[in-house]
Amino acid sequence: MTEPLGAAATAASRQGKTENLWFGHPAQLARLFTTEAMERFGYYGMRALLTLYLAQHFLFSDTTTTGLYGGFTALVYLTPLIGGMMADRFLGSKRSVKFGAILMSLGYAILCVSSTGGAAKPYAMIEGTRYEVTVEGSGEARKQYVTDHGAMLRIKGNEDKSVSLLRGDGSEARHVPAGGFEGGGERNPLYTFLLIVGLAFVTVGNGFFKPNISTIVGELYEQGDRRRDAGFTIFYMGINLGSLFSQILCPLLAVGMGSWGGLGWWAGFALAAAGMAVSWLLFQFDGGKLDGFGERPAGANASRDVVVYVGAILAIPLAYLLFANLMAYVKPPAGSGLVGYIMSLPIMGKIMFGTFIVAIPGILVWSWRNGDKREFEMMVAAIVLITFNTVFWTLFEQAGSSLTLFADRNTDMNVFGLFSITAGQTQFFNAFFIVALAPLFSMLWGTLARRGIEPGIPVKFGVALVGVGAGFLFLVWGAQFAGPDYKVALWWLAGLYLIHSMAELCISPVGLSMVTKLSIARIVGLMMGTWFLSIAVAQYVAGVVAQLANVETVGGEVTNLKVSLDTYVGVFQTIGEISALIGLVLLALSVPLKRLMHGVK
Ligand code: GLN
Repeated sequence: MTEPLGAAATAASRQGKTENLWFGHPAQLARLFTTEAMERFGYYGMRALLTLYLAQHFLFSDTTTTGLYGGFTALVYLTPLIGGMMADRFLGSKRSVKFGAILMSLGYAILCVSSTGGAAKPYAMIEGTRYEVTVEGSGEARKQYVTDHGAMLRIKGNEDKSVSLLRGDGSEARHVPAGGFEGGGERNPLYTFLLIVGLAFVTVGNGFFKPNISTIVGELYEQGDRRRDAGFTIFYMGINLGSLFSQILCPLLAVGMGSWGGLGWWAGFALAAAGMAVSWLLFQFDGGKLDGFGERPAGANASRDVVVYVGAILAIPLAYLLFANLMAYVKPPAGSGLVGYIMSLPIMGKIMFGTFIVAIPGILVWSWRNGDKREFEMMVAAIVLITFNTVFWTLFEQAGSSLTLFADRNTDMNVFGLFSITAGQTQFFNAFFIVALAPLFSMLWGTLARRGIEPGIPVKFGVALVGVGAGFLFLVWGAQFAGPDYKVALWWLAGLYLIHSMAELCISPVGLSMVTKLSIARIVGLMMGTWFLSIAVAQYVAGVVAQLANVETVGGEVTNLKVSLDTYVGVFQTIGEISALIGLVLLALSVPLKRLMHGVK
């Protein structure tokens, strides 16, 4: 029987502790719920700012902005592998979470400082001559001007990639043909340094925080306790509750809304830092509630802790270097093929794919040598499910890229004819549906379990894969009802997010739970890290898929909406069908997988 991490060492101190109930679950779940809600509040609040912050405050080019953003979010999911391992061997989950929380709070605080001055000074090269650029307002009200012979001229991009310089009355003072205008920014090295240091702190901190708080949730339940999936579903609701609020509030403080320009970037990051600090406070001062959970593993020597902490601090410059490498990234020339693509990956991408390819067989070999037959078979089942997980997130993560562009280009964003929402705001649907549906799913799993008909984990995963595919096919179906403007009603997109959110609830919390059930206890942190690693890989592949849906644009605008709609529909149909098919394969595999799981439900 696999035992929860540290169970032997701490069974006595937690005796009777899980008897107090919170919605029918161990009362400790409440503290883990609030801690994780506030942590995600910080993370998603920061994430909601990052792209615009890079593009508008630091004036990075689109390639650098998206490369840095994508690389950062992938690295954030890679470090849990190491953070999980450190918890397994040295710190235990609880110390890891506390340490991670401190690093992440500092990270957001450093990002806040990085925004307090030294915004990149914009300039423009207009047909070979350099002009200083003045920026006014922020958010949608943002306007840029060049000064020419004492006159302030507004810069306006046109559809044909030419640029107009407009006088105060809107008349055109000068027309710059396509290619004659290039914007740029002079960055202050100190503030750029702070930006990257801040991101590096968050990356390392998340590695210690995210996998280990999840394994503590698993510890609340005895092996075989049927409430475990429901408990993780409640925990998952916390994740989305936190992100829901901060994704609205942080951008609001930073760039405002409508004619209000907000308080500035610093305020958005300060709110993220404050949220993260609350998360740390909740966990650090738990009033003894979590005594006996996530403790140091039996046999680990407390004097080693400091080595881990120092090692982690030293990893921060390493993350810094990876980000610097990402910033220097140049896209491979078109048509360089798969080999060319892999060769041209930034170091970070190579490390990530390399780690995945090594970790998956590596963990199996380790389990074969160190576990008994039963433990090994359970680990095989876990690794197979983790691999399928990659497919789910590859599709799901289109939310931030191709689906947002689809919203922007081919969706009628009108809500009941009352008001319109922006493409970015469609991100709200997912978090909202998760918060709304998580309690229902938690109850559903509970009810089905009591009747003895709760589907097994592989079946839930299979349903999720079919579901994420079906979400896309639903939108493809809706596309035929597009108006003459080639725009699909918003409800089709909302429907897709509803289906995706239900699918997510069948795989994401269930997967976290699954890891804590099937893993050999000594390496549960590492396995949780591998779970997040599969998501890191998916984030990356998702970017490649999104590129398939690339649509020709001129000056950031799609010129032919019909071609755009057809392209999206084509790609969405293909990935929808592939995923649904893979889901069916997994459903068929659920029978042998069940055998490997030795009664784990
Ligand atoms: N939204 C969830 C979270 O932040 C899931 C993200 C993920 O695991 N890909 O934990």
